[in-house]
Amino acid sequence: MIKMSLTLKDSPNAQIDKSILERYINLPIPNDAIIATYVWIDGTGQDVRCKDRTLTSVPKSPKDLPIWNYDGSSTYQAQGSNSDTYLHPVAIYKDPFRRGSAILVLCDTYKADGTPTATNKRKTCLEAVNKCLNEEPWFGIEQEYTLLDFDGHPLGWPKNGYPGPQGPYYCGAGANKVYGRDIVLAHYQACLYAGIKIAGTNAEVMPAQWEYQVGPCEGISVGDDLWMSRFILHRIAEEFGVVATLDPKPMPGDWNGAGAHTNISTARMRADGGIHEIEKAIAKLSKCHERHIRAYDPNEGRDNERRLTGRHETSSIHDFSAGVANRGASIRIPRGVSDEGKGYFEDRRPSSNCDPYSVVEAILRTICLDE
Ligand code: ADP
Ligand code: MN
Ligand code: MN
Ligand code: MN
Ligand code: MN
Repeated sequence: MIKMSLTLKDSPNAQIDKSILERYINLPIPNDAIIATYVWIDGTGQDVRCKDRTLTSVPKSPKDLPIWNYDGSSTYQAQGSNSDTYLHPVAIYKDPFRRGSAILVLCDTYKADGTPTATNKRKTCLEAVNKCLNEEPWFGIEQEYTLLDFDGHPLGWPKNGYPGPQGPYYCGAGANKVYGRDIVLAHYQACLYAGIKIAGTNAEVMPAQWEYQVGPCEGISVGDDLWMSRFILHRIAEEFGVVATLDPKPMPGDWNGAGAHTNISTARMRADGGIHEIEKAIAKLSKCHERHIRAYDPNEGRDNERRLTGRHETSSIHDFSAGVANRGASIRIPRGVSDEGKGYFEDRRPSSNCDPYSVVEAILRTICLDE
């Protein structure tokens, strides 16, 4: 356990003199040594794990990469007596930490008997995506998160009290308004370098809370890009000795929680008159609110219960609602979309720690597949 007295200055990662690494990280290595970091989702359905290996050639697609395995009994994914768990490469990114030929490899996970692990939500998501290709669905996800000091307290908050009430912090600038921008800038740059479709970033309503957006992406790639962007966020925050949490309500009380607003469109919604398609989709969503709430956080709604209170720009977890420009509704149609009569809509319910594969799958099965 971390002692409550520990703060940034006590973080071993913040203490290490990073300039020493510079002597080694750019050493020339053999041309046929390609360093690959395999990244996967562990048994919590929220945390990411990674391990590295040397390959002898540059893969052109995930199929060129070897299937690998790991000790699933150490990631809450298997029993010790039958612990080998398999990593199947699904997407390749450039490695912003090592650069050069190094790559990050996103994997989904399979048990020894060949079936997907309980937290492999990608497999069935991909099946749903492949049934809807003709509708050309696009997704854009707004990932909110909070930076914590090494003691688990939000970064920059007074140690024996609270900052002033919310108001000046959202999209703020200034030493008394935002905390940890270095991490945000590094993360944005690293995501672009990696090949992630990061769309933007902003400081959030609660101090030390931030957001970035991924998308619009076609189909499964929004989930792949979001998961790899989360890995890069944790990895960069680690270097600064800071913790990035995706908890949907890190501070109880009069402080905004964190979500993963999911923006959706299909080809027909993007075409002239598409607002009618958007209204049809919202009508379908209104009929299965509970099913979506169960898919919108890793604990079947229990995490989101703390966040979706009906206050702090959220709707109540118990009710479904929709409205133009309404940030207190489950579904918001942006004002510009309403004016133009076409575009996309926003599902504000997914929790910051949601699995985007579960969210995308639930939405497609409701609005495109009528399941
Ligand atoms: P907000 O006003 O809710 O804070 P943001 O600008 O943070 O909105 O995020 C809007 C998101 O919508 C972005 O991630 C963007 O990629 C996504 N988006 C834009 N157009 C579309 C579209 N046609 N279909 C799906 N997503 C879209
Ligand atoms: Mn070993
Ligand atoms: Mn936003
Ligand atoms: Mn936001
Ligand atoms: Mn939003």
